[in-house]
Amino acid sequence: MGDRPTATTNEPNTRPNQEMLSLQWLGNKDVRVVNAPVPAITEPTDVICKVTGSTVCGSDLHLYHKEIMQLQRGEILGHEWTGVVDEVGAEVKNVKVGDRVVASFQIACGKCKFCKMSLSSMCDVTNSSALQEKLYGKPFAGLFGYSHFAGGFAGGQAEYVRCPFGDVNLLKIPDGIPNEKALYLSDIVPTSYHAVQCAEVGEGKSVAIWGAGPIGLLSAKWSKLAKARRVIVIDNVKERLSLARDRIGCDIINFDEDTDVVSAIYKLEPDGLDCGIDAAAFRYTKGLLHKLQRAVSLETDSCEVINEALRAVRKFGTISLVADYAALTNQFLIGALMEKGITLRGAGQAPVQKYWKDLLRKIELGEFDPTIILSHRFEIDELRELYEAFDKKELGIMKTFVQTRFSEPPAKGTPPLSSFRSHDIKPSAVI
Ligand SMILES: [Zn+2]
Ligand SMILES: [Zn+2]
Repeated sequence: MGDRPTATTNEPNTRPNQEMLSLQWLGNKDVRVVNAPVPAITEPTDVICKVTGSTVCGSDLHLYHKEIMQLQRGEILGHEWTGVVDEVGAEVKNVKVGDRVVASFQIACGKCKFCKMSLSSMCDVTNSSALQEKLYGKPFAGLFGYSHFAGGFAGGQAEYVRCPFGDVNLLKIPDGIPNEKALYLSDIVPTSYHAVQCAEVGEGKSVAIWGAGPIGLLSAKWSKLAKARRVIVIDNVKERLSLARDRIGCDIINFDEDTDVVSAIYKLEPDGLDCGIDAAAFRYTKGLLHKLQRAVSLETDSCEVINEALRAVRKFGTISLVADYAALTNQFLIGALMEKGITLRGAGQAPVQKYWKDLLRKIELGEFDPTIILSHRFEIDELRELYEAFDKKELGIMKTFVQTRFSEPPAKGTPPLSSFRSHDIKPSAVI
């Protein structure tokens, strides 16, 4: 199957004789920091940035485990990054050399029907994956560093990135906002906010969130700010549950201890939940049936969490799926969906650009601080070790800030640099 046409290339020119560090995917659970050519301006709307901050996202673990289609050996990963503008194409107007910027994880053209509605994650013309178009009917936008299923663009776990349509996909970071706070506008701040909007969380409502990773925890925080009456967080990683309880004020359910999650929810909320948010992911299968089916490719995705939510949400309640799902699932409890009149809403890849200016304002005003989940800081050349530890949920690593030689020193109140190689991973201040 060939590529579908796009409005920009995913194979940029490179600068002669310049190399950079980059994190490349080389195989299942095999990522390495290797040298790569520095990208050059290729289209007049391009911006080249020096990366000043990146991170590993929970969704990068799907790539790490080779669970995303069309992932190619040598792809540079990373879809959340901040940078300093290093060079601009002839048609770029909104940013100039030296500006501090944050990128949206999606690459939007700014001109198509979806972009005009600020639905940047659904840009029609930046994803070359004909496979995705065939599977879904229409593809979502191209993404930085997320395989050829998402357009095959090089990502930000590197020292330089080419940002196509730089006027559209970069947001200037105001003075006084450190990169540690701005970085999460790339993805997790808008994505968690979007999840809460899609679940129709509001004043006086009860909410349960499956998954206490960064998206789940920030969704819990947004739910609290929306004056939800009760917010329940479900996971089995004790440090993450403690953070949800002690720092955000949630009720918690550890599914290793309370194996019947639905009963545990009904004990707290006898009528069922008003809202459910699935911020876990398709590969977190618990039951043997789904483990087996995934192992022999009878399904790609497990619906265990969705089924729990369908049973635990009240009649005419709402569920939002913000966790990644890729393709097909079995044993889906369609009866509860229909008979209880539940609204099941796929959140989609969040349209970052619809929200990011408003959310930046909330950060500036101190209404929302994304660094509540920032646990550690590492150097780019330790990304391989970071993937491994993050995958195993070891060392209390939650959300990280990955620095390069272009980064500023850690902002006040954020974690100092840690190193796997010198065995000085400090316990997190947040957990
Ligand atoms: Zn992400
Ligand atoms: Zn577009």
